[in-house]
Amino acid sequence: LGDRLTGVFDTLTGRGALSERDVDAAMREIRKALLEADVALPVVKDFVAKVRTETVGEKVIRAVKPGQQVVKIVNDALIQMLGGTLSDDDADMAAVRKSAELNLNAKPPVVILMAGLQGSGKTTTTGKLALFLKDRAKKKVMLASLDTNRPAAMEQLGMLAEKSGAGFLPIIKDQSPTEITTRALKEAAKGGYDVLFLDTAGRTTINEELMADVIAVARIAKPTETLLVADALTGQDAVETARRFNDALPLTGLVLTRIDGDGRGGAALSMKAVTGLPIKFLGTGEKLDGLEAFDAERLAGRILGQGDVVALVEKATALIDEKEAAIAAERMSKGQFDLNDLANQLGQMSKLGGMGGIMKLMPGMGKMKKQLDAAGGMDDKLLVRQRAIIMSMTQWERKNPKLIKASRKKRIAAGSGMDVSEVNKLLKMHRQMSDMMKKMGKGGMAGMAAQMAG
Ligand code: GDP
Ligand code: MG
Repeated sequence: LGDRLTGVFDTLTGRGALSERDVDAAMREIRKALLEADVALPVVKDFVAKVRTETVGEKVIRAVKPGQQVVKIVNDALIQMLGGTLSDDDADMAAVRKSAELNLNAKPPVVILMAGLQGSGKTTTTGKLALFLKDRAKKKVMLASLDTNRPAAMEQLGMLAEKSGAGFLPIIKDQSPTEITTRALKEAAKGGYDVLFLDTAGRTTINEELMADVIAVARIAKPTETLLVADALTGQDAVETARRFNDALPLTGLVLTRIDGDGRGGAALSMKAVTGLPIKFLGTGEKLDGLEAFDAERLAGRILGQGDVVALVEKATALIDEKEAAIAAERMSKGQFDLNDLANQLGQMSKLGGMGGIMKLMPGMGKMKKQLDAAGGMDDKLLVRQRAIIMSMTQWERKNPKLIKASRKKRIAAGSGMDVSEVNKLLKMHRQMSDMMKKMGKGGMAGMAAQMAG
């Protein structure tokens, strides 16, 4: 998805603002890319409509490539959709990030019920979570297998209990899932366990018998958490699975496994959209340490693949005064870059953490930094001094720097407490910048940045 978006957005760069046509083209690509990432069609439609509205409404700042800003809008929308609740349009990002925690607020043993299709990773995830709770929360954990279909499945969980240091409910043959549940609750209470995991059996597809079993178990065990474990690679089927389990069980959260595989996590977006449930954990491997607490930003990044660009746009958006930047870009493109503009730029640069800061932020500004260095260097104290020189000029002088003669230079130098040579250096720098901007032509700052990058 990242590559594809970069391609589209490259064609958007070099323009001051996004036209409807630009946005349409970008949205078509986003739609295609999300479908390829296995996000379900209705979810894709909603998502694109939402992003489109925001993109058209957004005042695109001129100093950054507009395409990157679209990436940011898409990324923010993804984070919100992955982490927020269904109706929550302005999800508080801090709250969103915390959604991963397991709720253990109940009288021990706190019951966690694991549900899902066969092979989705329930048993493996149970072992991982046991280790997680034991290590991080110092909990005493018991695992119980309700998988009466396959004796091997029970032994599999027993081995994981041993590896993770958790207790394991002894296997008694020919008990039903509900009988095992009753026994597990009793044993866990007797043994002083904090948490009891119930690992259920699965079928390859959802059927009535499976659902009836799990529903009966949930009724007896009254789990604090009922987690739907799903394979991130299941793609379009994910929606149907999530809907059926969510209708039948009081689900409290999702765990997406095999996120380490080829899938791009599109299933996560679909399941989240359909159920509105928080995604709590991601399975990132077969081993017991292959577990990640869910992080909406990280998963959005994985789906989008544009992490650096997003950070860049975020920082620039926060720091650059949009209006001033737009006006300056407009004037520059017309070759009207005067000393007032330079003073503004110097002020902006200070805000962005000096020359080094702005050069790091702006795509392809490396060349410009070299030119400025050649014209007398540009440390941060220099920014302040140069601004002081401009402030000592009259408005006429600021607008007509080429007409400043020796007597005026002397007055300006005296007024700002500098040498005439420093006034000369500033004027030379302005001349060079102004020439360069004229050469860059009509693209404005974005065009200039694009040309320098290319
Ligand atoms: P269950 O039938 O739902 O209990 O599924 P299992 O826990 O037995 O897992 C089925 C297979 O998927 C096993 O081979 C696991 O090792 C593997 N598996 C589970 N979670 C992950 C994961 O996050 N990443 C990868 N690569 N494999 C996983
Ligand atoms: Mg299993």
